[in-house]
Amino acid sequence: MNQPLVAILSGAGISTDSGIPDYRGPDGLWRRDPDAEKLVTYEYYMGDPEIRRRSWRMRRETGALRAEPNAAHLAVAELERSGVPVRVITQNVDGLHQLAGMPARKVLELHGTAREFVCTGCHVRGPMEDALARVDAGEDDPPCLRCGGILKPATVMFGEHLDPVVLGEALAVTKACQVFIAVGSTLQVHPAAGLAGVAADQGARLIVVNAEPTPYDDRADEVVREPIGTALPELLRNLR
Ligand code: ZN
Repeated sequence: MNQPLVAILSGAGISTDSGIPDYRGPDGLWRRDPDAEKLVTYEYYMGDPEIRRRSWRMRRETGALRAEPNAAHLAVAELERSGVPVRVITQNVDGLHQLAGMPARKVLELHGTAREFVCTGCHVRGPMEDALARVDAGEDDPPCLRCGGILKPATVMFGEHLDPVVLGEALAVTKACQVFIAVGSTLQVHPAAGLAGVAADQGARLIVVNAEPTPYDDRADEVVREPIGTALPELLRNLR
């Protein structure tokens, strides 16, 4: 059996049905509000305790960790379970592909994960819930319990580099796949945009599922404008 490898690149649009707004896209909330953008910009976060306190409050109040996977996340996991080789490359930090049942090793998180914290001093990681529980208990900027360093979410903040290992794996998957589905991504932010180009260059079938036009629509073999929650499950059923 030599089944084609399906690469699925997901952006904010796949999670809006789960109640998670687009924070970091070109028109995302953070980009439109310079004050909010500071909360997720490395330089400000590291340099200003007040920014960190506001940032922890924001994480506590948005309740993003309580979001549930929707029909689109479930359809991707179902495709993988059906025996089709699937790899997910995601711009999202919500962990919803894994919650839907995708094995973690098959999900490449370009921007990290909001479900864990990381210490900027000793790089120890842990569940975000543990850090938020400390905020609930009264610590407004909880320091690392091991080294006293500054904790941050294990996400790639503005001003931070993407993990070169994750990026390398994403590129390898993109070069190896026969089908590349970009779903809910505007394909305007590096490296997602570049990956769609690589997929098209190497002859993969490029499918774009997005409400708005993207710069890669004219290179795509198929463009789907219908709502992701219904369009993606149907598209993936047909792939099986
Ligand atoms: Zn530490």
